[in-house]
Amino acid sequence: MYSILIVDDAKDSLLLLDHDLTLAGYTVLSADSGATALQRIENEDVDMVLLDIYMPLMSGLEVLQVIKSSSKTENIPVIMLSASDHEDKIVAALELGAADYVTKPYIRNVLLARINTTFKLVEKTASLEQMAQKDFLTGINNRRNFYSLAKKAISIGQRHQESLIIAMCDIDFFKKVNDKHGHDFGDKVLLNVSEILANVFRDSDIIGRIGGEEFAMCLPQTTMDEALIACERLRVNIEHSKVVAADNDEISVTMSIGLTQLQHENTLGELLTQADQALYQSKDNGRNQVSVYDKCSAVENDPNNSPLITEQQAVDDSTTKDYPGINLSTGINNVLGDENLFEQILVMFYQDHAQDEKKLVHAVARDDISTAKHLAHTLKGVASSIGAMELFQKAKILDESINEQENERYNELISLLGEKLSQVISGIEKNLAEKVDCP
Ligand code: GH3
Ligand code: MG
Ligand code: MG
Repeated sequence: MYSILIVDDAKDSLLLLDHDLTLAGYTVLSADSGATALQRIENEDVDMVLLDIYMPLMSGLEVLQVIKSSSKTENIPVIMLSASDHEDKIVAALELGAADYVTKPYIRNVLLARINTTFKLVEKTASLEQMAQKDFLTGINNRRNFYSLAKKAISIGQRHQESLIIAMCDIDFFKKVNDKHGHDFGDKVLLNVSEILANVFRDSDIIGRIGGEEFAMCLPQTTMDEALIACERLRVNIEHSKVVAADNDEISVTMSIGLTQLQHENTLGELLTQADQALYQSKDNGRNQVSVYDKCSAVENDPNNSPLITEQQAVDDSTTKDYPGINLSTGINNVLGDENLFEQILVMFYQDHAQDEKKLVHAVARDDISTAKHLAHTLKGVASSIGAMELFQKAKILDESINEQENERYNELISLLGEKLSQVISGIEKNLAEKVDCP
């Protein structure tokens, strides 16, 4: 039941209101001064305030101003009580954010009707706000609200020079779960994952669903060590949690996670890209694991830069090669520094993927979406593992677009992907001409 705080310096007024509101089923708290009212609002659960305008020491308008200026209390509806000749004060109160006003002496049924209407309005506003900010399926922050909350947290972190972590996670092979058990069951799994997320992280952490089976976390005032412990706990909890399918099968999924830490002037966009790269490292290394973005391996982000891999290589010209569109250090790191192996992988990439744009165009023209999906998904994974991060992004966008069945975008996205792919392929051709056979 709702609790209403009544504030009036006249004791008889308080008694009368207390009697009428209690009879109507409300829990009534009372205060005979502005200062007491503010104290009770601070310390107790108050769903609404009935506030007299004229009080000595602190007027109702001053109390109203304090209530509306704190983010903790600004959403508590306030109905002003005033003698009928205080028109200018009533206007001022409404401008300050009062929900309504009732003239004294009040008519019982009118007062109760106004209170009732105000509560209904508050409920409706809260549910609209909830719809605008929360994800429909899981009830956690949607993408837009996650961005807005995380941006605020980042600027606070930067101002106070506090450690902050951004994490991204993605359910492994989720498409298979949908394909095997149906979309409704997939939804149940998503709901289960989001409940585990909410349990694992602190109330002050920000969790959002930012894509189909992709979630992001912003962990303010958290070190990388603490975040790793939390994310490992998340990973294990998800792995061990089971959801019962229609055939009574107990299904569990796993999750790949990527983390990065706020540095200097990083924007949220940059941090999400870094966390995404770490996430795809987790995918490449076998999924169901946590990876941390390696800033050293990403020093070279400009595809036109000639990367210096190690000091020794910088000295030895013959091994310093320029692969446009490939972040060499990321790629070589992914094979634990084994450059020969990396070159072999590039040759294989060339042989297996040089024709992918053509294959994608044909698949889409034939309406063979499952082949297009397979091509885009595979290319996404391989591009990430060789350090072709822009190609990875393009393949990822196409992959997501196919998941969303945005048919009309396929050709445009394939052509954007094709541009990056040609750049990567011609770089490999130029450097490894003697090793690659034209496919
Ligand atoms: P990977 O391990 O590489 O992430 O593989 P994956 O199968 O999880 O990735 P992919 O991106 O190919 O597939 C994601 C799937 O998520 C495809 C899509 O049908 C499903 N999905 C996205 N949103 C929803 C949703 O709201 N409900 C359900 N049930 N499925 C969804
Ligand atoms: Mg997935
Ligand atoms: Mg995904």
